[in-house]
Amino acid sequence: MPSDKLPDEVSRLCERLRDSATEVDQNLRWPQEQMRWCAEAGVFRWFIPEEYSGWGWSEQQILSGYLALSQSCLTTTFILTQWNAACRRLVGSSQEALRRELLPKLADGEKFATVGISHLSTSRQHLGRPVLTASRQADGSFLLNGLSPWVTAATAADIIVLGATLEDATEIMCAVPTDRDGIKTHSGESLVALTSSCTGQVDLEDVVVYPQELVAGPVANVLQSNSGGGTGGLQTSTLAIGLSMAAADYLALQAGRRPDLRPIADKLQADCTGLREALSELTDGQEIMTAAELRQRSNSLVLRSTQAALSAAKGAGFVATHPAGRWAREALFFLVWSCPQPVVAANLCELAQLE
Ligand SMILES: Cc1cc2nc3c(=O)[nH]c(=O)nc-3n(C[C@H](O)[C@H](O)[C@H](O)COP(=O)(O)OP(=O)(O)OC[C@H]3O[C@@H](n4cnc5c(N)ncnc54)[C@H](O)[C@@H]3O)c2cc1C
Repeated sequence: MPSDKLPDEVSRLCERLRDSATEVDQNLRWPQEQMRWCAEAGVFRWFIPEEYSGWGWSEQQILSGYLALSQSCLTTTFILTQWNAACRRLVGSSQEALRRELLPKLADGEKFATVGISHLSTSRQHLGRPVLTASRQADGSFLLNGLSPWVTAATAADIIVLGATLEDATEIMCAVPTDRDGIKTHSGESLVALTSSCTGQVDLEDVVVYPQELVAGPVANVLQSNSGGGTGGLQTSTLAIGLSMAAADYLALQAGRRPDLRPIADKLQADCTGLREALSELTDGQEIMTAAELRQRSNSLVLRSTQAALSAAKGAGFVATHPAGRWAREALFFLVWSCPQPVVAANLCELAQLE
């Protein structure tokens, strides 16, 4: 399959997701049906190697898929990214038995996985002590105690890939079933947007992790040691650019009837095309800019384009069920999601109009 040509079933899926995006945003419940449509269209298989019943799509194909999905329903696409984050960690694990056990079930949608690792990178870093600890037991197992502050889809997931810190400051990553004794999931916070992602804290009290559930570690900086990569990867920028494209397309449509909007729509569409190309080049490994620079520019574009769409939609766009208002709320998410400190600093300087 050429990287920019998506199968017809993906186009049909995107149409269904676009048609139901307002409902997903408004009803604040886990989007069970949307997840089922994704499984039926084979979306989970994109990310999993063929030897584990996936389709092993290339990074360019996944990029095209993510861009199409995020233009249609950001909540569903975001949930997929957290599933994918867990899946990537498992694919990158050296535990073949764990891969064989879980990956085929994730590929066909039989099991759902998510990730709780941000407390090792972008969350709670100022506290000076880990919020989730692991202590090694004599039999080789580990006991987890504490909390994982942000876990998307925890109540819907069968497995959470969790990061935890040992007394000697090394870290582990482990795949823990959500029905394990001592794990308490919550239905999720009410959020500015994406509430239906059911994101919330997970509490852990003396949760046993068996050696065969270890995805990686114990090692220093476990997130870097496993092929899932660190924070601020290209995926977050991909979703921001996808959302920007939805807003810019809306402006272009409006400009057909309102000539004063034409230069605005043209400029934002050109900005989207520019970042889309940069994203593709970075995905191919060309070092045209850093991933952090792309993220910062994507954050700027998603805020500008969605607010421009809202301005053009006027008061009608401020009605809760209008897509322009939803896009503007969703764009705020990129200010806080998996945002490495240099990106946060750059965003703040731009907002304060500091050089
Ligand atoms: C909707 C949503 C879904 C998410 N899903 C997941 C997921 O599935 N898995 C996952 O691993 N992560 C997830 N994350 C986490 C995300 O990637 C970031 O790690 C998170 O947004 C960082 O925010 P925080 O409030 O935890 O940051 P923190 O840095 O912990 O800040 C929390 C508060 O502490 C205070 N503070 C911060 N820094 C300092 C300082 N230096 N001195 C004093 N006070 C300070 C501030 O008052 C701040 O509001 C999700 C986040 C959101 C919002």
